Amino acid sequence: MTALPSESPDWLDAAQLQATLDRHQQEDAGQIGEILAKARDCKGLDGNEIAALMTLQDPERIAALFETARTVKEAIYGKRMVFFAPLYISNLCGNECLYCAFRASNKSVIRHSLSQEQIAREIEILIDQGHKRVLMVAGESYRGGFDYVLESIATIYSVHRGNGSIRRVNANLAPLTLDQFRALHGAGIGTYQLFQETYHRETYTACHPRGPKADFNWRVTAFDRAMTAGIDDVGMGVLFGLADWRFETLALMSHIAHLEKEFGVGCHTISVPRLEPAIGSTMATHPPMPVSDADFKKLVAILRLAVPYTGLIMSTRESAAMRRETYALGVSQISAGSRTNPGGYADAEHFESSQFQLGDHRSLEEVVQDIAAMGYIPSFCTACYRVGRTGEDFMDLAKTGEIKAKCAPNAVGTFLEYLLDYAGPDTLAEGEQRIEAEIAMMAPDEQRAARRMADMVRAGKRDVFC
Ligand code: SAM
Ligand code: SF4
Repeated sequence: MTALPSESPDWLDAAQLQATLDRHQQEDAGQIGEILAKARDCKGLDGNEIAALMTLQDPERIAALFETARTVKEAIYGKRMVFFAPLYISNLCGNECLYCAFRASNKSVIRHSLSQEQIAREIEILIDQGHKRVLMVAGESYRGGFDYVLESIATIYSVHRGNGSIRRVNANLAPLTLDQFRALHGAGIGTYQLFQETYHRETYTACHPRGPKADFNWRVTAFDRAMTAGIDDVGMGVLFGLADWRFETLALMSHIAHLEKEFGVGCHTISVPRLEPAIGSTMATHPPMPVSDADFKKLVAILRLAVPYTGLIMSTRESAAMRRETYALGVSQISAGSRTNPGGYADAEHFESSQFQLGDHRSLEEVVQDIAAMGYIPSFCTACYRVGRTGEDFMDLAKTGEIKAKCAPNAVGTFLEYLLDYAGPDTLAEGEQRIEAEIAMMAPDEQRAARRMADMVRAGKRDVFC
């Protein structure tokens, strides 16, 4: 099997990152003003600028940061909010991550590795709720070997119910070899997602004492292998609460810059999971370096300004209230109605095999209603991936602003599909009003495309996109 060496990466220079943080310990009002003015141009920020923003304590300047993030988010993403659901296929794991309920030695968790029939059942339920995108998740041990993962992807794509099917399967899986990444690419995944957990090497070693995940270098070089194998949409993340969030954020930026340099495109999405309580884990309940709610909101806003064209994902780890607050600060994708136990959609009673506790327990329809009432357009769009607008091609369209002319009409079309096929009467009525209000505010070209899309969906066509 081919595997690129898992050498220590030269782009991750902890001493240099720490020096940048040390240079920016005091809040400098003049400098902050200049950085926020630059951020409005949607060209991103460098490490020094990010470090300066991370010093913010003054309430007025924090309000200015949030306002700038709001402006940048609206300029690039408009009002659309993309939905997905996680699908846990197995909680078997050979690792010993001290914060995770799935770790090998944890006897308090009931282990399940779903059969293909069980996976199909879970997918039927998600389709019947209205989902079109799934994030497949597994522990690092596959019953039947890696083919189990490939078979599971094929199963997910094979299920069709009424008008519905899953149109994009993303995957959050432990680092793979080059050949395995090639096979994953061949299986038709959308984004390959992997959280580094922490870029702080000593903390990483302390949190991952055994199993393949103990090798920091193997994990931190995984995207190089994935991209070499042809996967050009990758999703990054840090598990916030393990080490200093400021250090992690700068390291994440170094990682993105490295991929941009080597492969012409950075990451497609960033996730910002915070440690949540997990059965049998003291570390999960008592994070070594917790990120406060105030810092968490700053983090989201700073990421929005630092990498304006990268999707920001907010999972149901966070409470409904916190999720609501972060939407305007830069979030572009959310999950809803999630379960973190394999088989959790078919069996809604038993949570003993869950990975961690969730903060938002609302159903997809409740979240859809809520965000539509907040003025967003829930989007179930999967167009880019289906027409090959991925990686650098996607970023090129995003950076010139052309992508918005596609995203907005596609959001309207897929929201209308959802409303007509899956929503109750109240959600349908409110959603129709929201769609009309949104179309009325669009530029003429977008408006024409959105009306065309909506007319086709009303006429019974499905899976229409531009
Ligand atoms: N097993 C693979 C791995 O670790 O890369 C992929 C799936 S793992 C189930 C997905 C992610 O869950 C991990 O990368 C980690 O960041 C997150 N996670 C684990 N324990 C958590 C906890 N207690 N609270 C929040 N997120 C957690
Ligand atoms: Fe296993 Fe992933 Fe949990 Fe670690 S985070 S114990 S690798 S499932």
